[in-house]
Amino acid sequence: MTANSPDAEAPKGLGLTGFASGDPVATAQDLTADQGRAMEVVAEVLGGRRLAVLTGAGLSTDSGIPDYRGPESVPRSPMTYQQFVGDEALRRRYWARNHVGWHHLRHADPNPGHLALATLEARGLLSGLITQNVDRLHSAAGSAEVIDLHGTYDRVVCLQCRNHYSRAAIAVLLEALNPGYLERESDAGDVAPDADADVDDTGDFVMAPCPNCSGMLKPDFVYFGENVPKDRVAEAYQVVDSGDALLVAGSSLTVMSGLRFVRHASKAGKPVVIINRGKTRGDDLATILVDIGVSEALAFLAQTLPDLERR
Ligand SMILES: [Zn+2]
Repeated sequence: MTANSPDAEAPKGLGLTGFASGDPVATAQDLTADQGRAMEVVAEVLGGRRLAVLTGAGLSTDSGIPDYRGPESVPRSPMTYQQFVGDEALRRRYWARNHVGWHHLRHADPNPGHLALATLEARGLLSGLITQNVDRLHSAAGSAEVIDLHGTYDRVVCLQCRNHYSRAAIAVLLEALNPGYLERESDAGDVAPDADADVDDTGDFVMAPCPNCSGMLKPDFVYFGENVPKDRVAEAYQVVDSGDALLVAGSSLTVMSGLRFVRHASKAGKPVVIINRGKTRGDDLATILVDIGVSEALAFLAQTLPDLERR
């Protein structure tokens, strides 16, 4: 077994390729006076209300996963579903990059923002948590009820027989088909939130067929050009409906799959608070916009929001 084999468990947070060992993450104490005042206003609006929460890539940047739509990020166009199923060369490239990216992602740790939301849930302050992230860091932080709107990076689906597999099991197959590939490419640069690592040498990568039917495998998350499954959307609307306010944390709301919940809450007359670095497509609908780091803002709320009165 080599250090990079999928079965070798590295300690969480070290990361086989080191990307998770970034700078220390800011905490609520690191808010400036102005930011603290802005958050006091947020706490005032949200206090006493049960919160529906929607999170996006901006929440996971403090876990070392770059947000490709954030203010300082390099624009990137993810592959569409149509490209994935229709073009073998692109699919090969996708799987090669995903293979390296997956190894990065699975060693990422939740940050204080994820932990703050798990705390708020445990205290009964949330009606639910919807995330656009596929990194599973909410679950890792201890959140029990998470709607993974866009799927998760740690599952794979066969497009023919619809069997599901753990990504770790498929990694074993990919390792056997591509000996030494990870070691060669493990110093890849940025890894996008969807486990797309910046790897160029992908031409000779061998993809794994479905172990059951030899059909085409696809990471089980929602691609551009693909719809979120209807029952999952309905579940997410339910979370928004049973909340008294909507808190958006770390999403630029670029895609409709997230923006529609902001529209829904706004239409119902509920307060919408957006905490995000940079502009969002939901700014016009927000009751309050706060342009500060998401981890420290959520940590502040976990410390500040009072318990709900029984009702
Ligand atoms: Zn199959």
